[in-house]
Amino acid sequence: MRTVIVVGASLAGLYAVRELRAQGFDGRVVVIGAEPHAPYDRPPLSKTFLTGPTPGTRIATGLGPGTAVEPGLALADAEELAELDAEWLLGVPASGLDTGSRAVLLVDGRAVVGDGVVIATGARARPLPGPPLTGVHTLRTLDDARALRTALTRGPRRVVVIGGGFIGAETASSCVTLGHDVTVVEAAPLPLVPQLGADMAAFCADLHRRGGARLLTGTGVAGLRPALRTASGSDPGARVAAVELADGRLLPADVVVVGIGAQPNTAWLEGTSLDGGAGELRGGVPCDEGCVTVLPQVVAVGDVARVGGVGGAGAGAGAGAGAGATARVGGVRVEHWTNATEQPRVAVRNLLAARTVETVNSLPYFWSDQYGSRIQFAGHRSASAAVRVREGGAAPGDGGFLAVYEDEGCPTAVLAVDRPRAFMRARRELRAGRAAAV
Ligand SMILES: Cc1cc2nc3c(=O)[nH]c(=O)nc-3n(C[C@H](O)[C@H](O)[C@H](O)COP(=O)(O)OP(=O)(O)OC[C@H]3O[C@@H](n4cnc5c(N)ncnc54)[C@H](O)[C@@H]3O)c2cc1C
Repeated sequence: MRTVIVVGASLAGLYAVRELRAQGFDGRVVVIGAEPHAPYDRPPLSKTFLTGPTPGTRIATGLGPGTAVEPGLALADAEELAELDAEWLLGVPASGLDTGSRAVLLVDGRAVVGDGVVIATGARARPLPGPPLTGVHTLRTLDDARALRTALTRGPRRVVVIGGGFIGAETASSCVTLGHDVTVVEAAPLPLVPQLGADMAAFCADLHRRGGARLLTGTGVAGLRPALRTASGSDPGARVAAVELADGRLLPADVVVVGIGAQPNTAWLEGTSLDGGAGELRGGVPCDEGCVTVLPQVVAVGDVARVGGVGGAGAGAGAGAGAGATARVGGVRVEHWTNATEQPRVAVRNLLAARTVETVNSLPYFWSDQYGSRIQFAGHRSASAAVRVREGGAAPGDGGFLAVYEDEGCPTAVLAVDRPRAFMRARRELRAGRAAAV
């Protein structure tokens, strides 16, 4: 293999480049990124990036003009990027994959030819249907976060967050910290039930209330209401004025944050041999348990990969992989930071071997910071799991807790709130237990 093309210049893409070099690949590496920025970290975007002091001078990473990112966000510094010795084509999305000529096609008409491809195109924020309105934000990219940050610095605002998932909850918490009047709207009776189960979801719902945000559950959003145009016409686009709920209520809003999930970035692969048709790619790129797609020279990693969606024992299983996991046509797609950093090692090993010689066997893990609390979760939670608080308590003043999910008495997942040490211990035990069970 002489040239490997990595499509997606973010977390999983960067880790794939690191792995290529760490595993001895000394050929050409070309990284194609839709965003103009050097690889940056997304978790701070809903947390400290919104609440922290105005970011200082952007840090250059040697990848060219316009690629610098704010301090604390860069995933790699200039020195490391130089050492990795890859070619970075940033701000130019891939538009297709031509398996005949072994080329990744770019929107600007160029084609990059290679022997191996790592698909790391992640996911994008799911938008609300309807025409765009000023004041309505999603939060997936650095540009999204910069725009939201600017909107939130214009004095106290009425903020409505649509969706009580992790990103919605974190954004709501950040908005409260900034002194805004915050309402979270969640269509389900409780937020986060699929990820955490009803008991722990009730605890998270309470975090909103204790933290100072209004939480409205069990009601969907019918649409967004624009403000009447001003006579001066100084605002070029219609601006949002209110969120209309399915039950008819109107929530006045200056800023609306839409946090209703993410969709994998697979449109550029439609019609290729990776596309089984019938909209299959909407659930992510199917690959086997080693991240290898139906083409042995193409692997998929991170938020875009539907692991277990091709062949092998895991295909079609889709059993709960914990929070952020989406089971579709078969296989599981996981939207967690740690997953995107762990899969590339296995995927690159298999890519260089031209077949699946290792499968991914990590324990799903994620964390979330909300209202001054750190939530950590690891493992697989099934719908039938019972949850037991093993340490601490869920009441204010208890100093957090550690809870264990059990299936027929057997621990399968752990959740902690503000108990990082106990959590690390329990996570280790869970891993060891799982290894012993294999
Ligand atoms: C606001 C926010 C907060 C989060 N907080 C947490 C957290 O607290 N804990 C946690 O575990 N996880 C968190 N996550 C999730 C975590 O950041 C993701 O799981 C991780 O970023 C996935 O990395 P990835 O490289 O697979 O995908 P992405 O980070 O989505 O990167 C994919 C890259 O590919 C690019 N791309 C897309 N299409 C193309 C194309 N056609 N051609 C070229 N490039 C393309 C995209 O522009 C993007 O830069 C958070 C995510 C967000 C958005």
